Amino acid sequence: MLKPGVIPNEEPQIRVGIVLPSDDQTKVTTFLSDMCDYELAVDTLTFSTCEVASILFIVEDNAISFQIDGKKYEKVNKVVFRPVVEDAYITLDPVISGREFHWRKYISVKLPGTLEISLIEGKLLVVNELPLETYLTCVATSEMGAACPPALIEAQTVVARAWMLANVEQKHTDIGLDVCNDDCCQRYQGLNNVTENSKAGTAATRGMVILHSGKICDARYSKSCGGKMEVFENLWENTPLPYMQALPDMPEGNEVPDLKIEENAQKWILSNPKEAFCSSTTVPENELKQYIGACDDEGEYFRWTVEISNDELSANLRDKLKLDVKEVLDLQTRQRAESARLLKLGIIYRDFDDKEHEIEIDKDYNARLVLHPKFLFSSAVIIDKVGTGDVPKRFIYHGAGWGHGAGLCQIGALGMSLKGYSTEEILAHYYPGSKYKKIYK
Ligand SMILES: [Zn+2]
Ligand SMILES: [Zn+2]
Repeated sequence: MLKPGVIPNEEPQIRVGIVLPSDDQTKVTTFLSDMCDYELAVDTLTFSTCEVASILFIVEDNAISFQIDGKKYEKVNKVVFRPVVEDAYITLDPVISGREFHWRKYISVKLPGTLEISLIEGKLLVVNELPLETYLTCVATSEMGAACPPALIEAQTVVARAWMLANVEQKHTDIGLDVCNDDCCQRYQGLNNVTENSKAGTAATRGMVILHSGKICDARYSKSCGGKMEVFENLWENTPLPYMQALPDMPEGNEVPDLKIEENAQKWILSNPKEAFCSSTTVPENELKQYIGACDDEGEYFRWTVEISNDELSANLRDKLKLDVKEVLDLQTRQRAESARLLKLGIIYRDFDDKEHEIEIDKDYNARLVLHPKFLFSSAVIIDKVGTGDVPKRFIYHGAGWGHGAGLCQIGALGMSLKGYSTEEILAHYYPGSKYKKIYK
C-alpha cells in the first residue's frame, strides 16, 4: 500500500478494491486467462491451477466455499491468485460499475496482477494488487475513450498518477485498500479498454507527476467545468490549494465575469461561450461520444436542461434529508462559488400538516444530491418554476458543466489536445504553478 506523504523513488504496488463489503455480493466467478497461468493459495495451502479454467466462489455461513475438479472447499477465509506467467489476467464477474449513480450496472472485468478474495465481517472483499503503471494504463482509457489524442491521454495519466500518489482522500484504508474501482476514487475496469494508445501514453509519462512546494499535487479532475474552473475550498476542506484557481477554461486573454454575482451567473449559464476549451463549439457533443468512456450516459455536458416534477423532488427530499416534505414551494440559489456552482441553496417547503419550513443546503455536492434523485450533473444551475398558484408543478434546471469543476476539466483538456496543446501546456493550464517532474524510473 501507499504511504501517506511519502514520495516513492520506485514504482509502488497498489491495492484496488473490486468487490467491496458494501456491495453485499454473495457470488463471484473467476475465469483464468489460461490454465496454469496462476498459483492459487487457499488459506495456508498452495497449488497450481493447471486443472482449472473457472471457479465460482460463494459466501455462506460467514465463509467462502468453492469447487475445483469436483472437490469442495468449505469454510475458507482467503483465496489468493498469483500470476506465474507474464500477461496473465483473470476475468471477474459480476462487478458493479457506477456504484452510487443512476447508471449503476454489472459488468465483467479483466484484471492483471494478483487477486485476493476474502471476507470482512462476513462480506465479500475482492482486491486486485498490481504495479501502479499497469493500473494507470487501465485508468487512462477507462476514464476517457480510446480515440483520444495522445496529449490528452498523457495529461490524464499524469493527473491520475499524481492523485494516487498524493493519496490524500484515503477513502478505503480501513479495509486495506488504496482505492476502489469506481468513480468514488478513479474508474478502473482492468484491461477492458486498454489500447496501444493508452499503453504509449503511460510509457511516455512513466514516473511523471506534478509537484507544488515539494509535494505531489492532489490533482482532482472532473468531466466539464462549464467554462470556469472551481477552487478546492469551495468544494472540500476550507484550505485553498495554490494550484487550483478560478481561471477561465479558455485560451489566455479571455475573461469570465464574476460568477459569484447572481446576475452574471444567470447570463453565464444561459450563454454558450464558444471560446471555452470544454464548449460544444470546441468539442462538438456528437463527436464527444468517441472520446468519452463507455460507461457514461449520453448527454449534454457544457450546457443542459433537466426537468423535475414537484412530486419527484419532494420524494427525493424525503429520501435524502429524511424530511416530512409534502410539496416544495421554492428553490432559491442564494450563494454561488467561482464557477457559479452553489454554496448555498434555500428550500421552502410545506409538510403533511401544511406547515411551511425553510432550510438551507451547503455546497455543490449536497445541492446536487437533493436537487435530483439521479444526482444532478452540476450545481451551476438557474432554476425556473412552472405552474400557476403558490405550488409549482415542475422545476426546470438550466445547468453548466458536469462534475465538481476543479482541477483538470476532461472535456476541456480534450479540446486543448484537439487544438494542438501539449501535455505540459494542458497540465500548466489546469494546475497553475505546478512543476512537471519524473519521480521514479
Ligand atoms: Zn473509492
Ligand atoms: Zn472546462
